[in-house]
Amino acid sequence: MLDKHQDARLANLWDDGKAAGMTEPEKLLYRSNLLGSDKRITNYGGGNTSAKVMEKDPLTGEIVEVLWVKGSGGDVGTIKMDGFSTLYMDKLRALKGIYRGVEFEDEMVGYLPHCTFNLNPRAASIDTPLHAYVPKPHVDHMHPDAIIAIAASKNSRELTSKIFGDEIGWLPWKRPGYELGLWLEKFCQENPDARGVVLESHGLFTWGDTAKEAYETTIEIINRAIAWFETENTGPAFGGRSKPVLAAADRAAIAKKLMPVIRGLISAGESKVGHFDDSQAVLDFVTSTSLEPLAALGTSCPDHFLRTKIRPLVVDFDPAQPDVGNTLAGLPEAIATYRADYAAYYERCKRADSPAMRDPNAVVYLVPGVGMITFAKDKATARISAEFYVNAINVMRGASGVSTYVGLPEQEAFDIEYWLLEEAKLQRMPKPKSLAGRIALVTGGAGGIGKATANRLMQEGACVVLADIDETALEAAQTELSTRYGKDFVRSVNMNVTSEAAVESGFGDALLAFGGLDILVSNAGLATSAAVEDTTLALWNKNMDILATGYFLVSREAFRIFRNQKAGGNVVFVASKNGLAASPGASAYCTAKAAEIHLARCLALEGASAQIRVNVVNPDAVLRGSKIWTGEWKEQRAAAYKMDVDELEAHYRERSMLKLSVFPEDIAEAIYFLASDMSAKSTGNIVNVDAGNAQSFTR
Ligand SMILES: [Zn+2]
Repeated sequence: MLDKHQDARLANLWDDGKAAGMTEPEKLLYRSNLLGSDKRITNYGGGNTSAKVMEKDPLTGEIVEVLWVKGSGGDVGTIKMDGFSTLYMDKLRALKGIYRGVEFEDEMVGYLPHCTFNLNPRAASIDTPLHAYVPKPHVDHMHPDAIIAIAASKNSRELTSKIFGDEIGWLPWKRPGYELGLWLEKFCQENPDARGVVLESHGLFTWGDTAKEAYETTIEIINRAIAWFETENTGPAFGGRSKPVLAAADRAAIAKKLMPVIRGLISAGESKVGHFDDSQAVLDFVTSTSLEPLAALGTSCPDHFLRTKIRPLVVDFDPAQPDVGNTLAGLPEAIATYRADYAAYYERCKRADSPAMRDPNAVVYLVPGVGMITFAKDKATARISAEFYVNAINVMRGASGVSTYVGLPEQEAFDIEYWLLEEAKLQRMPKPKSLAGRIALVTGGAGGIGKATANRLMQEGACVVLADIDETALEAAQTELSTRYGKDFVRSVNMNVTSEAAVESGFGDALLAFGGLDILVSNAGLATSAAVEDTTLALWNKNMDILATGYFLVSREAFRIFRNQKAGGNVVFVASKNGLAASPGASAYCTAKAAEIHLARCLALEGASAQIRVNVVNPDAVLRGSKIWTGEWKEQRAAAYKMDVDELEAHYRERSMLKLSVFPEDIAEAIYFLASDMSAKSTGNIVNVDAGNAQSFTR
């Protein structure tokens, strides 16, 4: 985390050996990735880099000057070559001739595609003119915490000149766009020896004649700011501590209680996913005397508040006398007040052509003594919002330590939040998937039906917690799914479903990971076979423990969460054909499966008034990928039918009415249907996925 390195300088990572032989665009890419690899230099997606390169025009064969600049929506840390847009410099310069003035600056964005060099499909960003008009070959624009701390100080101009003299200039706050590009050009013409400029409330511009020089200047200037804060900002963080920090386990316990309740209160429009952060930087802030006043001022850098909303919600919780019950009881009103304040801000600041008000709920929830909770439409956005607020905390810490911290003026913040260009970007976003923002826990999730189900739900945008007792399989499944869908979407917990304590702690981990729960798929199972006279009590109990008690324990825990969260809920049991149809030599298994099915019906009845749906999928003979079908059970079944184990699959296929094999993906499809809104009006149902078996027709 940032705080560990707060006092350390940035290292110069430029490697001449690596850079030798690179083309100018390759050096630009190299420099960008180096800069973006450290969040102290710039936040995720924040800032941009550029190079002006002489290239052969594919149309005329002439050598022309081309601007390579980070395209719209990219991140300098992870950008690849195709993330840069390329534009003719002569055309960009010609745009000055049609510029009608600052009140029309947004229309200039529409001209940028006309300047595209070499049919590059990467859209040019709003910041393009800022790079084009700085008359230097290599330009970096970064959002370093240490620089924004200066830029967001009340006397930021004075501080800039005190720290950097004439080397770094200063420009007052101006929304990024065409006009700011012209300001930068004018600044460079009037200050030919300057190496960069601080933009008030925003960030840093630096430049150089070579890629290496630009990179080293950026690092040097940020390091000078860091060093200056080291000597000047020596008092206690945020004016000192006024609240105790709870122990790590207690912080997690409080977060687990708060997150599902907050989630339920803010998920009416769209389901949200949570993220919890109790890093040192956050704890320093949420235990300080300045927490409430600084939080109320809002964030400064436009990048920060686009992700975090202008203000966080400070949760009413006293770590000196922790009473989470009181806090929970007060949340509905606190959240309603936040929404009303946000609506009032929208009404105060809106313009004739402003887009409609967006979700008025807070993104960031600060809990004194505990940490920070963020909620967004998906896990990655919630995590990145938290990272951004940590950037904002670092900025407030620096600025308030040496000066007075100033947030962005409200109207300026609004104009960026509801900028028509920003709205257009939102409108271009793909439609959310059917389970976007939903959180599922799948028991027996490491293999067979469980893993296929997790895969199906994640395909539809859900976050999934895999619960299993097989640690090795669990790790493999998590790696496989996170490679396919992204690390943010999947977590795993070791959970023995027959242990009350393990179930409780596993669900707790899920709450801390994602902030709530919408879907429980109870799938962990086993199968045994023995004539009744040979069935030991131990074997009987094992079936009952896993298939009946295990399903009860996980459902009870899910129901508790659903009731706290007050946003409905969804339970799908994976039972068996044998829960309906008797089978010879498997009385313990069949009876436990029947208990499971009846439990589902009882729970459907109990949950209905709280919009909790409970349904059952009955598979039969799903051999592939199933652990149940490895080893003994397979041999026992084969022996019972007097055949070779390899003949079993064909045997089951031929036995079915439809003469089809049943695969884990077939069961997963039925589970997805029952877990999704497609089956919103179904509860207490059984769906057989067994290729047809008259004996198990429901009645
Ligand atoms: Zn910026």
